[in-house]
Amino acid sequence: MKPTPNSYIEAMLAYTPGEQPQGEGWIKLNTNENPYPPSPAVAAAVMSALGADGAALRLYPSPDSRRFREAVSVLHGLPVDHVLAGNGSDDVLNLLIRAYAGPGRPVGMLNPSYSLYPVLAAAQNAPVVRVEIQADLTFSIHAVTDSGASIFFITNPNAPLGINYARKTIAQVAADFKGLLVVDEAYAAFAPEDCSELLRTHSNVVITRTLSKAHALAGMRVGYVLARPEVIGLLDRVRDSYNLDRLAQAAGVAALNDANWLQETVGKVKRSRERLTQSLLDIGWSVVPSATNFVLATPVRMGSPPGVSTSEHAFEFLRSKKILVRRFPAHPLTASALRITVGTDAEVDAFLHAAKEWTAGRG
Ligand code: PMP
Repeated sequence: MKPTPNSYIEAMLAYTPGEQPQGEGWIKLNTNENPYPPSPAVAAAVMSALGADGAALRLYPSPDSRRFREAVSVLHGLPVDHVLAGNGSDDVLNLLIRAYAGPGRPVGMLNPSYSLYPVLAAAQNAPVVRVEIQADLTFSIHAVTDSGASIFFITNPNAPLGINYARKTIAQVAADFKGLLVVDEAYAAFAPEDCSELLRTHSNVVITRTLSKAHALAGMRVGYVLARPEVIGLLDRVRDSYNLDRLAQAAGVAALNDANWLQETVGKVKRSRERLTQSLLDIGWSVVPSATNFVLATPVRMGSPPGVSTSEHAFEFLRSKKILVRRFPAHPLTASALRITVGTDAEVDAFLHAAKEWTAGRG
């Protein structure tokens, strides 16, 4: 007899990660990684945690990532029982959905936003309700509060659009929404304000953060959630008991403790983002104002008005120059655009050079 999997697992599709090209020479502007290496304190901390012979790896890590959570707690001025560490923020997003959604208990999200949420919902056999972002890039607060979702995700700043919703808008949602409101702040370090202070005023608000973007640790898998202790207690029940390995915990502490590195790097990325935005506007592309480390821009040139096939053509032209960006063809707000991660100055220059060449009709 053939073993029978859960039918809803059989029916679901896996998340599609951005391409990680093999071989040399690629300019990788497709997965919003940081173009700069992490704080030098990170490598030192990882080496020290590893030791000369790796013997420390015999031992299990701190099950509750104690030192890392203490560092987060100091950073946000919150007690340590308000913090749970994750193997990347994807891990905490999964735990939140495990704890709060299921059959008849929908996961809500703005559309477009992070395409992992529906995958995590499908894995719990939970329905998904989507609140559409309008053409003017706003969304209806009522549509969120009337969505009937048990847990609602607002990606803020939004990915893949890049715009930031004001804290007071999110506070209005939190005040009227009956379920758990998760503000996914993966890109908050690049934004003018964040929502962490809503934790003090709204008991249904949860904040998720990652060290993959601003801290340049995508390869290490470190994230965290800030929430009231009742919520943290639930997540603690359903997480892997050792969800962060030793090296990730050490790297996370070192990264959080180097505030100067963070400030400098985020400053550089923001300056490059403004240069990239302005240069694209100058050649006639339209660009969504970004509060992140990427820009969503719509390519256009003589004879090729904005549209899906124009963006596809620009994408393929860039790819032929070994410059990788990302397309989001599934949603009308993103289908004609390219999402371009902010790179180093040299990478931005190479991208702009190719973009100008394409816009001028060569290629
Ligand atoms: N949230 C959003 C909105 C993201 O874009 C990403 C990165 N793809 C994540 C969460 C996950 O980040 P990580 O798991 O690397 O911490």
